[in-house]
This record gives sequence, C-alpha cells and structure tokens, in this order.
Amino acid sequence: MSRTFSIIKPDATKRNITGAINKLIESGNLRIIAQKRLKMSKEQAEGFYDVHKEKPFFKDLVEYMISEPVIVQVLEGDDAIIKYRTIMGATNPDNAEEGTIRKLFALNIQENSVHGSDSDENAVKEIDYFFTKDEIVG
Ligand code: ATP
Ligand code: MG
Repeated sequence: MSRTFSIIKPDATKRNITGAINKLIESGNLRIIAQKRLKMSKEQAEGFYDVHKEKPFFKDLVEYMISEPVIVQVLEGDDAIIKYRTIMGATNPDNAEEGTIRKLFALNIQENSVHGSDSDENAVKEIDYFFTKDEIVG
C-alpha cells in the first residue's frame, strides 16, 4: 500500500462535481483516508506550485488555485501514485483517455479539475504541506 496527495481544484468545487470525482477515485480502488475543504492563500498556492514558478502560466495558475475552495485529500491503495495519475488522465484534457477524470470533467489545460502527486518524494512533501499526522485517520 502507498499514499498519494490529491487536490480537487476550483473549477470542480465551483461546478459542484466533487462527489462525482470522489466516485471515480473510489471506483478506481483508492481509499480517501483524509480530506478537507479549504480556500488556499496566495502564499500557500505559490509554495505548492513552486516548481513551476519560472513557467509562463505560473501567475494564472496561482490566481486560479485561489479563486474558489479546493478539496485536499490523501489517497491510499496499491501503487497509489501511478494509479491516481491513470485515473486523472493527461494534463491537457484533449489528450486524456476516455473515462478519466480530466477527460470527463476538465475544462482546459489549466482548469483541469484535479492534481495528483508525480513521485513518492513529492507525495510525502505534499501530504505534509496540507495535513498534520493526526488528520490522517485511515
Ligand atoms: P498537477 O501537478 O496539477 O497534478 P500535472 O502534473 O498533470 O498537474 P503540471 O505540468 O505539473 O501538470 O502542471 C501543473 C498545473 O499547471 C496543471 O495541472 C495545470 O493546472 C497547470 N498547467 C500546466 N501546463 C499549463 C499550460 N501550458 N497552460 C496553463 N496551465 C498549465
Ligand atoms: Mg504536476
């Protein structure tokens, strides 16, 4: 068993489709072992996406991430990181496989409904960024 970190992004909370997304997560054999709804601060969003700070889309990305509430989650399962990336689909919904969250729900390459960690190291870092140990209840 392993863990990954997920965000249901502002475009999805705004459209009231968080339940539909959680259904796909659970149908894909991942367990939501921690979850909370929050509105990110600018500093929090900038810190979270620090790896992209030199990218041309960084400023827009931060504005978008703080525009509406998000749901942050810890997901657990076999090969959780790769499994969730598969359930999510490609960053650009035009390239996403049928049945993936992004194919079904993403609006465009930026407003793409979900985030998932891309490595073990980042999963640990990202979980720590948003959750204390006692908030992860299994
Ligand atoms: P995430 O890290 O959110 O799970 P990802 O790993 O599929 O997504 P990244 O390359 O890490 O994609 O980009 C982080 C986020 O930045 C994307 O999910 C998207 O919201 C936004 N983004 C990425 N590329 C672009 C782009 N070319 N134009 C606008 N926004 C982009
Ligand atoms: Mg990424």
